Amino acid sequence: MNGGTSMPARTVALVTGGGRGIGRAAALALAEAGHDVAVVSRSAHEIEAVAEQLATLGVSSLAVPVDLTDPDAIAEMVKRVSVELGPPLILVNNAGAAESHKFEGHPDELWERMLAINLTGPYLVTKACAPAMLARGWGRVINIGSVASLTGNRYIAAYTAGKHGLLGLTRALAAEWAQRGITVNLVAPGYVATAMTDASVANIMQRTGRMADEALSAITAMSPQRRLVSPEEVAAVVRLLASEAAGSINGAVIAVDGGASAIAGTG
Ligand code: NDP
Repeated sequence: MNGGTSMPARTVALVTGGGRGIGRAAALALAEAGHDVAVVSRSAHEIEAVAEQLATLGVSSLAVPVDLTDPDAIAEMVKRVSVELGPPLILVNNAGAAESHKFEGHPDELWERMLAINLTGPYLVTKACAPAMLARGWGRVINIGSVASLTGNRYIAAYTAGKHGLLGLTRALAAEWAQRGITVNLVAPGYVATAMTDASVANIMQRTGRMADEALSAITAMSPQRRLVSPEEVAAVVRLLASEAAGSINGAVIAVDGGASAIAGTG
């Protein structure tokens, strides 16, 4: 059909950063679609709680604590998921971090850290999962990018470089595996109601002295819809991209941003 075989009856999904926010919502959506799901992040208590919730949906689940900036730990984690749950054929590269700094005096350490979690991590996890997908002739790689994969903004040079890089990785692999039954796509959310956005609100409050509601308004003003995206809205797109029906969607960017990256004059 799409250059490979069809989706196996029971498919294992691996969701990085699956302990909270978008990753947690994506893990739940994939479990609701009937997939077994492994969730990984550094916070063991978060991923264990999600894994327990996944099990109540009637699928197998696994929580593996890992620091995705550690290449050896990534290889071990994918090995463990493959042995204990099965080789992941659906990979959601969701774990990420967004720290800001103006470019004058930008710490090199921050640059390295942002690229490590937002770009090199997805590269290494994809590399570790690829052999099973290629052998099976079926796979789904879903990268959680950002509006920052598409446009530039102030004070987030390292995050933006990482997320643009993730888009480049997405497109290159989509081309490389187009005839191997594997699709590779990027979801580009605007501001989502998660801990990451809470931190952005706190940051604006600290820098500008604004109250929480004013700081939040400054963020929602960036969306034509004047609201945050919900994690479930992003998860719905992940679920679609993971499905057999999405076999011809490849190398795509799907913005889930209320129109922020597409509509002019939102101010
Ligand atoms: P959260 O901060 O709520 O979640 C981030 C997840 O990534 C957590 O589970 C965190 O777990 C994990 N993570 C971070 N660093 C590491 C690490 N070194 N090793 C393993 N896991 C790690 O953020 P969101 O849910 O909002 O973000 C998810 C993705 O969506 C990110 O890639 C983000 O860039 C992207 N995004 C978010 C937007 C937003 O407005 N919230 C907008 C656009 C894109 P732990 O810290 O325990 O390791």
